[in-house]
Amino acid sequence: MVIMVPPAVEQACAVLRAQGFQAYLVGGAIRDSLLGLVPTDWDIATDAVPEQVEAVFTRSLPTGKRFGTVTVFVHDTPIEVTTMRSDGPYSDQRRPDYIIFTDQLELDLARRDFTINALGYDPLAKRIIDPFQGRKHLKRKILATVGDPSARFREDPLRMLRLIRFQSTLGFKVHKDTERVLPSLAGLIAKVSPERMLAELNKMLMGRELLSALETFAASTLMEVVLPELAACCGLCAGEHHPYDLLTHACTAAHFAHPLLHLRWAALLHDVGKQRSLGRDHAELGASLAEQLLRRLRASTELIAKVSALITHHMFDLHPHSSDRAWRRFLGRVGVEATRDLIKLRQADMAGMNASPRQILAYGQAMEARLNDILTQDSALSLKDLRIDGRQLMQELDLQPGPLVGQLLHYLLEQVWEDPELNQRETLVRLAAEQLKCLRSNGL
Ligand code: ATP
Ligand code: MG
Repeated sequence: MVIMVPPAVEQACAVLRAQGFQAYLVGGAIRDSLLGLVPTDWDIATDAVPEQVEAVFTRSLPTGKRFGTVTVFVHDTPIEVTTMRSDGPYSDQRRPDYIIFTDQLELDLARRDFTINALGYDPLAKRIIDPFQGRKHLKRKILATVGDPSARFREDPLRMLRLIRFQSTLGFKVHKDTERVLPSLAGLIAKVSPERMLAELNKMLMGRELLSALETFAASTLMEVVLPELAACCGLCAGEHHPYDLLTHACTAAHFAHPLLHLRWAALLHDVGKQRSLGRDHAELGASLAEQLLRRLRASTELIAKVSALITHHMFDLHPHSSDRAWRRFLGRVGVEATRDLIKLRQADMAGMNASPRQILAYGQAMEARLNDILTQDSALSLKDLRIDGRQLMQELDLQPGPLVGQLLHYLLEQVWEDPELNQRETLVRLAAEQLKCLRSNGL
């Protein structure tokens, strides 16, 4: 079996071999290559200890030296070189208490999480090393731990989330012995750092078999520990016209959502507020629950802001037949990009209500066409499109800087949303002067 190895990676192996060390390719890159996928990163396993690896390569970084990992650079390509090791006990359920470097590849493969990730490849002999039935499981699309599932999950509970992540990204089934132990160990996931959890959840959300993965996530009770706000939706009524319970609605919506991370998160969490209220206020409530959840997982401020805004507006009342005025007002308030995302979120929401693909597609096309139609009209949507700015307005009306200027500009924008013809400098000055007079006569 020949695996297509990038020249820089092959060269790194050759450099190690030339110095008398072993060099194998291991882990995800071999799994992905055998699946016909393009590997994201290549890992080299060697019997050279980190100091020896550093001495052999001209450029390197000690990225995880304590656990034997050095990143080396070949023609500027970063490649992780890890000394083969076998792990000691994991008493803190995070990291092995100690590691033992070894010159036996099989021992290094034995410490890996799943059989499909415990494959090695000798790039010179072009030979696969497969001590744990990894290839058989790849062929049968099965996820199974290397060795006793319970012991392996206890060592590092993050592996339970990795399992679900691979279920989603690869579309594999979980071996029944591996699946069976999950509910009794789910509580241990609380020991894992939020950052490590988030990385796996993000990858899971982008997977093509997300719905099956979310089913395992919920059934194993891992969801109750990691995303309790979502797990609480199980069995709750999602509202009128909903064929599924609230949790199934959310999971189905996420599965069918456009594969962008913020959209997948928003679809998954858009209705969590319904556990508190079935009224329209569930959107605001949901946004704040989602913010709390994502903050706890240490998500980036940007992701939190995007997800929260989408959930806040997800009940938006805009249709292909809404007036131009209504469209301008909405686009001006919410923004063009966010509106495009909201259309996609509504499509996901429809999928979560079992709407037909034809209906979902027709809705998306009609909304996009309408949005593009408004954009080509080139009318003012936001303050920057007004034919007057704050400085000019202050000059014209002899105003001092202050909140009143912003207030007047917003008033003008509202007028222009109603009637784009008003977006002329003299007209805007006149309208602002009239409004100012009105405000002053009211003592405001
Ligand atoms: P990805 O496509 O996301 O890179 P991957 O399987 O390569 O998937 P990495 O985090 O790059 O994931 O890890 C590389 C390899 O290290 C894995 O294939 C697996 O063999 C091993 N590994 C990673 N994390 C763990 C873990 N928590 N427990 C045991 N082995 C692990
Ligand atoms: Mg990898």
